[in-house]
Amino acid sequence: MSSAARLACRSPLLSSVARPSIPQSIRATRAAPALLAAARSPAVRSFNFIPQAPKPSKSGDWRTMAEEDITRYLKQSHDRVFENNRAWAEEKKAKDPEFFAKLAAGQTPEYLWIGCSDSRIPAEQITGLEPGEAFIHRNIANLVCNVDLNVMSVINYAVRHLQVKHIVVCGHYGCGGVKAAMTAKDLGLLNPWLRNIRDVYRLHEDELDAIADEAARYDRLVELNVMEQCRNVIKTAAVQKSFAQNHFPIVHGWVFGFQDGRLKDLNIDFESMLKSIQKIYNLTE
Ligand SMILES: [Zn+2]
Repeated sequence: MSSAARLACRSPLLSSVARPSIPQSIRATRAAPALLAAARSPAVRSFNFIPQAPKPSKSGDWRTMAEEDITRYLKQSHDRVFENNRAWAEEKKAKDPEFFAKLAAGQTPEYLWIGCSDSRIPAEQITGLEPGEAFIHRNIANLVCNVDLNVMSVINYAVRHLQVKHIVVCGHYGCGGVKAAMTAKDLGLLNPWLRNIRDVYRLHEDELDAIADEAARYDRLVELNVMEQCRNVIKTAAVQKSFAQNHFPIVHGWVFGFQDGRLKDLNIDFESMLKSIQKIYNLTE
């Protein structure tokens, strides 16, 4: 049994908070009539049939496009977001007239999601979470750097004020940031950022160098990077103090795969990771 599951069994609070409210498959089934009704509405019909301007396949194609085609493409790619937004807002309101009033009342998300900025891994869509359920931070290669005021502020606010129950660091196979860090090249401004991943490689050099297949080594570095960032989350005072007082949040390491769209749980043993880092990084006093 994972540490998260053990905790969920032991703590009455966590046994209620850690349990998923409704499995996605059931939720989808329950929502089916509403979705079908919404699909018949004019708003959603327009959502599906917004005309798309031709999109250049490569960045170089811009040079050969007529100026009016570029202007038309920019206008349409801008306008379609507002069309989509209008359709989404109408669909939400049709399904639940109080939806936006509830959102305006405040947020009590159970999850803090720290993911990669990569456009192919939209946190809410791949997890079925609704607005209000996840506090989100994304950056290149899902890094948790001690001197990054942005991510540190997000963790601090999520733990101390929103009192999230789970913190997820989610990486993904095929991560461009991790790939770049495996490349011996001067990447300018990205150098100090990617240095964090090169440091992860150095920490696990023996294990990684023993993997002959480059693709497998790349996949393993993605996983090790997620685990190392989990460790960085646990090093924060906010997480250590909250866990000592409340028995949450629990930190999880997941990896998304493009092959099948599934999340892999790296089964971080949160409690033993916490104990091991506290020998040096204990900030609970
Ligand atoms: Zn990435």
